[in-house]
Amino acid sequence: MEQPLAQVTSRIAAAAAIARRKASDIKLIAVSKTHDAAAIRPLLEAGQRAFGENRVQEAATKWPELRGAFPDVELHLIGQLQSNKAAEAVEMFDVIHSLDRPSLVAALAKAIPGANRCKACFVQVNIGGEAQKGGCAVADLADLLVQARGARIPLAGLMCVPPEGIEPAPFFALLAKLAADHGLSGLSMGMSGDFETAVMLGATHVRVGSAMFGARHTL
Ligand SMILES: *Cc1c(COP(=O)(O)O)cnc(C)c1O
Repeated sequence: MEQPLAQVTSRIAAAAAIARRKASDIKLIAVSKTHDAAAIRPLLEAGQRAFGENRVQEAATKWPELRGAFPDVELHLIGQLQSNKAAEAVEMFDVIHSLDRPSLVAALAKAIPGANRCKACFVQVNIGGEAQKGGCAVADLADLLVQARGARIPLAGLMCVPPEGIEPAPFFALLAKLAADHGLSGLSMGMSGDFETAVMLGATHVRVGSAMFGARHTL
């Protein structure tokens, strides 16, 4: 397992070098959804500390025990979050990447102040304007950010998942522009198939699953 981690890390470093960026400014999030504790452990032992999960329930089944052994783990929620799970999510995740609607801003604004864990949120943008995809519409982003700032949500930046099957670079560039326009420095973008492109376009957080764990088990 150390092998794929080292490979992804050096590919990030190479892309950063081309873009004249520091590799240390890019956080690799190992997306461990569908993989069990036995598959995750070797990565922890190799020194990886930031992990991504897309479901609160699934994370609750494997991370409390792994965290007991590796207390400095940082967990990132990268999947859609229901407002009624917000309280549970902020106790388990350090960072939430899927803030995408007013009702969730309200739920998180209530849950975060009393929570020990969650310290930052990314606003997810539906960057390709796709019908059934999560994320706030580009046209609604300004209002959502006003609301989130008003509610004192700690904002880290913007997150996106570009449409499948077409060149992702224009979508990464658009997300970077939107973040800059709104004074946000974090850019959560890039997955196994496109993280080098994302790094060259300014990603600060890449979310890489299958390139490190192999193909996902279907749920
Ligand atoms: C699953 C997932 C990833 C990781 O995808 P890979 O292609 O396996 O690297 C990244 N981001 C989100 C939001 C995901 O759901």
